[in-house]
Formats: sequence, structure tokens, C-alpha cells
Amino acid sequence: MTAPMTANWRLVEDDGADRMRDRCGVVGVFGNREAANLAYLAMYALQHRGQESAGIVAGDGEVLRRIAGVGLVADVITERAIEALPGAVAVGHVRYATAGSEQDKARDAQPLLVRCQAGPIAVAHNGNLVNADALRAQLEERGSIFQTSSDTEVIVHLIATSHGSLLERLKKSLKQVRGAYTLTVTGDGRLYGVRDPSGVRPLVLGQLNGDRQGFVLASETCAFDLIGARLLRDVEPGEVVQIDEHGVHSHRLENVDNLPHAACIFEHVYFARPDSRVFGRWVHEARKSLGRQLAKETPVPADVVIPVPDSGVYAAMGYAEQAGIPFEMGLVRNHYVGRTFIEPEQRIRNFGVKLKLNPVRSIIEGKRVVVVDDSLVRGTTSKKIVEMVRSSGAAEVHLRISAPPTTSPCFYGIDTPTKEELIASHMTVPQIAAFVGADSVGYLSREGLHAAVRELPAERCAADLAGRVSGFCDACFSGDYPISIGGHAARRR
Ligand code: SF4
Repeated sequence: MTAPMTANWRLVEDDGADRMRDRCGVVGVFGNREAANLAYLAMYALQHRGQESAGIVAGDGEVLRRIAGVGLVADVITERAIEALPGAVAVGHVRYATAGSEQDKARDAQPLLVRCQAGPIAVAHNGNLVNADALRAQLEERGSIFQTSSDTEVIVHLIATSHGSLLERLKKSLKQVRGAYTLTVTGDGRLYGVRDPSGVRPLVLGQLNGDRQGFVLASETCAFDLIGARLLRDVEPGEVVQIDEHGVHSHRLENVDNLPHAACIFEHVYFARPDSRVFGRWVHEARKSLGRQLAKETPVPADVVIPVPDSGVYAAMGYAEQAGIPFEMGLVRNHYVGRTFIEPEQRIRNFGVKLKLNPVRSIIEGKRVVVVDDSLVRGTTSKKIVEMVRSSGAAEVHLRISAPPTTSPCFYGIDTPTKEELIASHMTVPQIAAFVGADSVGYLSREGLHAAVRELPAERCAADLAGRVSGFCDACFSGDYPISIGGHAARRR
């Protein structure tokens, strides 16, 4: 039973805002009569990429049905919902909405489903278009009526107002957009998967195993593990895969060859699940490699290395291994907390963080502690964690971040605070150490970040990325935006 609210209680929001957050995950299933059910399970595995809304469109081409709404996958996609989504093709989406009312979130839930001259079309999108507003204005001038605030609807309108087959419409539409887009699309009985020419966000192609028929697309390989699918390969930057009863056909988007690749390096630092293989590399290996590099660049005499769970765990293991310092889980995470909490009027110090993390005093007391985290955004959460470790009796607290200072916002589909809110955009490292109350703060260098990810063996489809200096986007650390953001920065931030 929920505790009654009285004048003595205060409702507080989870301060997860002190994190960069991925906005979406996409899936697609073709050629299986349980397509909606498989999409649902794949979305379950991608829940970390968006927890605000979820949706599936399924059908057989002629008829497509949609169920989408606000909430976690398990809340929105019920058994009854899956029964109402028959058909051998499905696309699914999990979304993290940045702002707006519950009504706005419900309206912006994906996949979007429309009926146009080409028939019913469903689109699920991960990423952000940097020219969405200009295209939207042009479309509105020509009479298009928009019902959501998402960039995805721009793509839908461009498809609807193009001519030819769905594949031709997709290619014509995407020729006009700039930015980051990974799409799963269905509409003519086929499934399509698309990655933008720079390959900013990931998308992988797999095949169902054993006696189960069909192909699957997903943002990350962890979705395949749950449904028993075998990874075939990455969808390549600038590629459209078309999947039908004859198999998988590869097409290229127009005028995209020789564009530099810009895979989001932050997927390896934080966003992707450690059990996924992203851009040809295992994420847990990448994170350990980042930790080892961090130890080489920012050594400090210490007794124990502890991670900020869960995302700092592998980097801390790498740091400890390289530094020869024992690794311990000195902070325990409560996995069962919600987004809002009722706090007593007599405030508890660092209440929000304490609900999620609790220090293990016997590991920390009297020790010189290295705390490893993957990022430091506003610094407010790190300050509370440092305080928590110190109040558990640590002799020294040294904060180590397995990425360079985050100095610039992302315009390619990751929710970041404004530049002014990013602590590293206006404070030096010693100033940040003073702000968070640590004895020292150490970041990974930009060169170290790239070296740590690139030293890993790249598998098929990422081999080309591995050898190219411009292969990864690191704009949130460097301010070097690989896809021109034009006036976008000034307007949105
Ligand atoms: S700006 Fe940062 S978060 Fe955004 S795509 Fe580039 S590396 Fe990823």
C-alpha cells in the first residue's frame, strides 16, 4: 500500500538528471508469426535505452496495428496487447522523453503509424535530426499537419509526400535529412533497417536460431540473446537493409559514400549494456580498457578501487587491474527504487543518492579509496557520492572518470544538460575536485579514450571504423561536431 502524503512528507524526484541519457532503442522482427512477442522481449532487453514510453506496430503489410503508451515495456505491452498484434512483421521502440506532460509523452510514443498513398507505414527512430525544424517548417508550408513534437514525424511526412516504392521513398526522404538516425520501418510487408551515413547510433542484424524462422534488428546485441537470435552483422553506416521472404537485401542511401563515420563513442563509455557488442566491439571489454588507460594516466597511491555501480564497474575493474590495487564493491546499489520518493520533513542528508547507493563501511573505513565512475555531468551526484564515501570513514577519496571532461551538449540523440550546466565547461579539474569534495579528480584524456577503444580487436563491419581517425564522434568531450549542427545549438541550448 502506498504511504499517505501528509504535511510531514516531501515528494522528491530522482536526480537521474545528473546523467547523460540515451533517448531510444529500436527493434524489428520479420518472418515469424510471433513477431510482436519477440519484439516485446527484445525491447525488454533494451529497456535501459528508454523508460518513458514503449510501443509496437505489427502486421502483415496490408494491415498494421499499434499499441504504444507511457511506461515501461512490461506496463505498456501486456499479454492482451500482444494478442491484439498478430502478423509476421513488427517494429518496436523504447523511448526516453525529455520534457512535457504525460499527454505529450503518450502522443510522442513510438513507433509512429500512418496511412498514406503508399499504404500503412510504421517508423521507429533512434537519434536526432539537426535540420528537423527547417524541414518541418517547409512541410507545414506545403500543408502537412504534425501531431507530435518528435523529429521522427518529419521522416514520416517526407516518406508520405515522396513517390515510388517504400524503399524509394525512404531513400528520397533520407537524402533530405541531416543528423543521427537509426530506423526500423515496415509498411509493404517487408522490414527495413537504416543507419545514417555517419553511423552515429548502433543497429545490428540477426537471425533467429533453431526451428524458429525470421530475422531481427535491434539497437544492441543483448536483445538477440534473450530471444535466441544469432548476430549476423552490424547494419553499416549509410546502409538500408530490406528484409523479405527472399532474405536480406542491402541497399545504399544516396550520396553518402566517403562521408566520415562518427559512431557515438559514449555508447562504449556508458549507454550500451556491457553484455552487448557495439560497433564491432564488446562493451565490457571497452570499459575495462578505458579503466586500464585511466589508471595509466591518473595514478594515485590507494588501498582500494570501488566503482559507482552499475556503469562504473568494468572501468573500475580495469583500473584496479592496471594499478595493482584491490577491487571491491564498496557501494551497493538498490535496484528496486522508483523515480519519485517520499522523504520525511526532517530531511535526510543526500537522501536521493542514499536510496540508490549505500556504502559498505567495512570496505571503505580507514582506506585511501579510488572511486571510479563513467561520467561527471553536473557534478551534483558525484559530490553526494564522495561525501557518502568520506562519511563512511575513508582516509582519502580520489574520483576517477573513465571519459574526458563532458564540455558540450549532444545534438545526435542523447539527452544532455545545457553547456552552462556541464560542470567541466566552466571549471578546471582542481575546481571540480574542490566542488565535489574529493582529494583529487582524474579524467581520461581524449587521446586515451580513442586509444582504449581502438586497441580492442574490431570484428566485421567495424574494421573500417577501427582504422579511421574520424571513426568516432566524441563531440560532447571535444566540441568537434562531425555533422554540422548549424543554428541548432543556439536554438536548443
Ligand atoms: S556528442 Fe557525445 S553522446 Fe552525442 S553522439 Fe557524439 S559522442 Fe555520442
